[in-house]
Amino acid sequence: MAQHTIVMIQGDGIGPEVSDAARRVIDASGVKINWEVMPAGASAIEQGHDNVLPAITLDAIRHHKVALKGPVTTPVGKGFKSVNVQLRQQLKLYAAIRPVRSLVGVKTRYEDVDMVIVRENTEGLYSGIENEIVPGVVTSLKVASEPACTRISRYAFRYANRRHRKKVTVFHKANIMKLTDGMFLDCARKVWKEEYPNIEYEEVIIDAGCMRLVQDPTRMDVLLMENLYGDLVSDLCAGLVGGLGVVPGSNIGDDVAVFEAVHGSAPDIAGKDMANPLACIMSGVMMLNHIQEEAAGERIKVAYNAILAEGKELTRDLGGTLGTKAFTEVLVKRVAKGS
Ligand code: NAD
Repeated sequence: MAQHTIVMIQGDGIGPEVSDAARRVIDASGVKINWEVMPAGASAIEQGHDNVLPAITLDAIRHHKVALKGPVTTPVGKGFKSVNVQLRQQLKLYAAIRPVRSLVGVKTRYEDVDMVIVRENTEGLYSGIENEIVPGVVTSLKVASEPACTRISRYAFRYANRRHRKKVTVFHKANIMKLTDGMFLDCARKVWKEEYPNIEYEEVIIDAGCMRLVQDPTRMDVLLMENLYGDLVSDLCAGLVGGLGVVPGSNIGDDVAVFEAVHGSAPDIAGKDMANPLACIMSGVMMLNHIQEEAAGERIKVAYNAILAEGKELTRDLGGTLGTKAFTEVLVKRVAKGS
């Protein structure tokens, strides 16, 4: 069996709890991984590094190509630039992929939700270009470039095509942001017409799209959107299938991939053994598929699906009573046993 080296960023808040759980579950699957733990986030500063995203961490990810990351805290307002924005921009992780699926045993208003959010990860309002025009008047620049809009559109259609998905829906606000969102739409439309006319394509103004999502998310398939919209819609969609504890994600570039849950560092429950580690574990399964360890990924998936379906051993966010550690123990045993 191949030996892999994966960079592990534990992160802040609940990050160490959920990333440790993911590591234990992945190791129990039998896959051979050498974990290289690297610093990032507020904890990197506490450990004496001079930056929330130390150069050694970036170098390690560039070298090993794959990372599993816990959430990090970026102080609000002034100070350091967001770790996530830096990471995504510097490693050119241009596509965030977030599968949002109903899980048997996780009771929500809807069944049969099965959609994938494809979020542009490098520009939009996350470009970090902000200016004070005069005291009391500030601006934030929304950037859209044709190469980035085309690249993410092509990724979404290629993803849809390879995974036999039927439809790509673009959420936009081109009625107001005519140039930026207008360009995003032009690029998506061009890729659709010229390269993937076999896939159904629709454009929906994001406010109406949000209403459609909460009325009937089962009609959505692949959702394509720019950076900020993707951030907001990801949490909204998580709420449709059981919350942030069960939605994984990946950040993909041409050379490098960083896998992480949609949720943040959850300071309200950090250190209390209350976090659901499943979203991080599911991100780990996406990572295993990426490194072609599909059998190990499937073993983990079968085990957590069985636990969820039985409904007896769940974390609190899903109506259960188990803490992070106890839930992880249950899952580790099931994965090791192979059921
Ligand atoms: P959050 O996602 O951390 O938490 C939102 C709510 O969901 C909280 O009530 C929290 O307790 C709950 N929650 C989140 N994950 C959970 C889990 N695994 N199990 C059970 N409950 C869970 O969002 P926030 O509070 O807005 O942000 C906190 C910090 O995280 C901020 O500093 C923010 O910048 C950061 N953040 C980081 C990332 C990342 O690193 N990828 C993503 C989002 C937010």
